[in-house]
Amino acid sequence: MKVLVPVKRVVDANVKVRVKADGSGVELANVKMSINPFDEIAVEEAVRLKEHGVAAEVVVVSIGPAGAEEALRTALAIGADRGVLLQHDGEIEPLAVAKALKQIAVEEAAELVILGKQAIDYDCDQTGQMLAGLLDWPQATFASKVVIEGERAVVTREVDAGHQTLSLRLPAIVTADLRLNDPRYASLPNIMKAKKKPIDKRPLASLGVDVAPRLEILKMAEPPHRKAGAKVASVEDLVNSLRHAGVL
Ligand code: AMP
Repeated sequence: MKVLVPVKRVVDANVKVRVKADGSGVELANVKMSINPFDEIAVEEAVRLKEHGVAAEVVVVSIGPAGAEEALRTALAIGADRGVLLQHDGEIEPLAVAKALKQIAVEEAAELVILGKQAIDYDCDQTGQMLAGLLDWPQATFASKVVIEGERAVVTREVDAGHQTLSLRLPAIVTADLRLNDPRYASLPNIMKAKKKPIDKRPLASLGVDVAPRLEILKMAEPPHRKAGAKVASVEDLVNSLRHAGVL
């Protein structure tokens, strides 16, 4: 079974995101970029499937500028076999990403696609669902456990009321939630090995996908700063303060 894992390069989760002075977007100049954390979990899951003899090959794919190769190398260092980089400068919306991923999934004859549940830059949480729709494949989003049983994937999902278990016919789409696994730290020898693994680089335009944006960002702004809280000495003081503030 071949597993395809789409990985996005995003602003590192530990970086404090700053909005550009003109409000046109997020400041990306000289900012540390990393693989999207949910995609790292998706790669780890695919690599574990390979280590358990369930998957034969793990292919990672990224759509983005030349620098997105770094995200692919991180995935290759975790244990993926090879990468595909569809080069595209500028923002790209989930629908266009899903259309491109559909072509790669078909071209690679992937039987399982594991995506992150969301990319932490725009928090869209849409690509996996759109890809399932375009391919007309079953989907299980927000997975916390994936077991392959013959021709089916048995996936436990995190839902508001607790856990739901679904059995999907392969080929299928799964999106990874935080509790699916703890991704390993890539060892130095594996980071070195990853540098030699093949990455097929092509312009996204060569797929003939319509990437024209459907959305227009009107303005981006930082959230308002929260006012400092105040400590009260007793429950009585708390009740008085709340009364004074008109809450009670
Ligand atoms: P989103 O719908 O943007 O929140 O993204 C959900 C998932 O889709 C991500 O975690 C990735 O697995 C995948 N994805 C989104 N954008 C890209 C991209 N440019 N290249 C590769 N994978 C992507």
